[in-house]
Amino acid sequence: MIVIRVALPVPLRQHFDYLVAKHLVPAVGCRVLVPFGSRQLVGIVWQVAPDNSFAINKLKTVINVIDQQPVLPPLLRNLLSFAAEYYHYPLGEVLISALPALLREGRNLADYQPLAYRLTPAGKILESSVLRRAKQQHALWQALQQSDLTESMLLQQFSRAILNQLLKKELVAAYPVPPVPFAAPDSLAKGLQLTPNQALAVTAINQAKGRFERFLIEGVTGSGKTEVYLQCIAGLLMTQQQVLVIVPEIGLTPQTLARFQARFDLPILCWHSALTDSERLHCWQQAATGAAAIIIGTRSALFLPFMKLGLIIIDEEHDQSLKQQDGFSYHARDLAIKRAALEHCPIVLGSATPSLESLYNADSQRFIHLDLPDRATGHKLPQFKLVDLKQQVLQFGLADISLAHIRKQLSLGQQVMLFLNRRGFAPALSCQECGWLTECHRCSAFTTYHKQSRQLICHHCGASKAIPRQCGDCGSTQLIPLGQGTEQLEQNLQTLFPDTAITRLDRDSTRRKGALHSALDDIHSPGARLIVGTQMLAKGHHFPNVSLVVIVDVDGALYSSDFRAPEQLAQLLTQVAGRAGRGGSQGTVLLQTQYPEHSLLQDIIQNGYAAFARSALLERKHTQLPPYQYLALFRAEAHDTNHCQQWLTQLADLVHNMPQLQLLGPIPSPLERRAGKYRWQLQLYSINRTVLHNALDTLLAQLLSWPLTRKVKWQLDVDPIDL
Ligand code: ADP
Ligand code: ZN
Ligand code: ZN
Repeated sequence: MIVIRVALPVPLRQHFDYLVAKHLVPAVGCRVLVPFGSRQLVGIVWQVAPDNSFAINKLKTVINVIDQQPVLPPLLRNLLSFAAEYYHYPLGEVLISALPALLREGRNLADYQPLAYRLTPAGKILESSVLRRAKQQHALWQALQQSDLTESMLLQQFSRAILNQLLKKELVAAYPVPPVPFAAPDSLAKGLQLTPNQALAVTAINQAKGRFERFLIEGVTGSGKTEVYLQCIAGLLMTQQQVLVIVPEIGLTPQTLARFQARFDLPILCWHSALTDSERLHCWQQAATGAAAIIIGTRSALFLPFMKLGLIIIDEEHDQSLKQQDGFSYHARDLAIKRAALEHCPIVLGSATPSLESLYNADSQRFIHLDLPDRATGHKLPQFKLVDLKQQVLQFGLADISLAHIRKQLSLGQQVMLFLNRRGFAPALSCQECGWLTECHRCSAFTTYHKQSRQLICHHCGASKAIPRQCGDCGSTQLIPLGQGTEQLEQNLQTLFPDTAITRLDRDSTRRKGALHSALDDIHSPGARLIVGTQMLAKGHHFPNVSLVVIVDVDGALYSSDFRAPEQLAQLLTQVAGRAGRGGSQGTVLLQTQYPEHSLLQDIIQNGYAAFARSALLERKHTQLPPYQYLALFRAEAHDTNHCQQWLTQLADLVHNMPQLQLLGPIPSPLERRAGKYRWQLQLYSINRTVLHNALDTLLAQLLSWPLTRKVKWQLDVDPIDL
């Protein structure tokens, strides 16, 4: 017997040793099934014959060696162990979380090999007349006489039911086909004639082929970043290298995919949360075997096992959805950079509104900065106008002047976009007699009134309840919606513009499968239209018919305690505004506010994002905030608010006297109570990354043994973006 050391998906920060028969010893990176307490767990072999094993006679034996070949090749193991260390998260959980669910469950990879179909001997000698009455079966039978078909090719033309019937009659049989690397194309569709700035960018990136180099493309909305990506990708495909494109969760639209497919007649796969488990495994296999040329995916695509990765692109690199929020809270941008370093390939970050972190890296020469300051089509960037709500008559939250602009554009056959970052009908229901508001009983938040579904829904914990008949305080039945959400705005607009088509784009309206697709189709069809939506509207869409954007209300964001709030607001405004005027004449953006003199609004509007970002960065420097300091955050949650506070105080006491380390807290989190639990946080800052990470190591080594640790649900977030 040989000892192997296995990483298991358990919250303990250690590995576990097991015995395995000599002739079965798996390679490092293979999965094994092992006994763990009363359970059986799938783990990853991390070391064979470690030199400091426990007493061999106490070790248990591996139940089953699942893989012949490692599911985690050395490069990925390297990346993941770096990630586990950097984010101080248990390695076993990190490793397992990088695998598709079916592999996590210990399924056999061979069972999921793609299949192809051919005629059986009986099928080959079949008389054509036998299938005369079954037209579809006959057609499939004929097609298979020409050549075997892979499952995906076959299902493009025939239904599975038809296939199953021929399988049942034993006229057709399946056989596995191992995926093979995609073939380099002889030629590719020609791209657009590049602008000089685009050409510079493409040349710079192409020159970095085969080595690690970081690029930041700061390109205004519509500057042709995607065209730059496409032309960089083309060169790599000719040499059979794979490309990974990471996009924000809701930035991955059918349009994005269509644009790539129109350019490259090669296997392009998508990776996102709506895939089924077997679709995920399929994508994983296609990446591993080199069959996929391009994978466009959300943040976890970063952990796919590419056979030969030649380029990583992070589109909308500022987007917050690139950071995982709970558990293993990694930032896909930062880990992708690490991955590119390991792969010896270039990485391109692109955005119209780069994060201050990336701009800082560009300023300090770590990233090569590529600038696309103009729209590729030559169209002008939209013009901002502030609408002072204090001086305006309002109808349904819209100023008279805004309504006049809307009418004008609609009469010209243009589309108008109205942005309101609050879904639902109203942020709360309120009692007209005493002012009582409907609150979530589990969170320190109001519950949003959803008129269509007749519910009060808490947007923080998801709890929903029926609409009350009476005020919970005085018993009055005079309950009215307070404030406005997108659902109500849509209804009000219908009253104001009864003859205009309206499309709403938010998480509620797009929940149904295919709903987003059809909404986007509507928007792409010409003709006057009103488009209402939340920040879903801000993400990368190209809406050529929108000439006017009305930002209905962002005032809440002007007075936030989070030091990142100004950056996020500037990004949001710039991105939303960037949807206007992409088709022709210069677009207009009306920004409604009670605070037109607010310095942040003035800065963004007068100087634009690029200038705003530089001054914001300078301010971060003066106030010594990230990226000028490194930040880590402990969060604690418990039913008893004292437990949170005490636990964080214990942590704070430990680091109080460490040099070069500053503390903020413990303080209650901005949303003090969520889903019935109280929430507190403790922020740790240092100008020295090593000092900070050493402190975290010290804390983690101690806190696991505290009795109080079992009473709180805690999380350590390194480089948090949500404070
Ligand atoms: P971004 O990704 O920066 O928002 P896109 O790549 O989507 O920009 O380009 C915006 C629009 O400009 C698209 O309609 C695209 O076809 C067009 N475009 C991009 N590059 C060029 C170019 N070199 N010449 C003409 N049109 C271009
Ligand atoms: Zn709630
Ligand atoms: Zn009341």
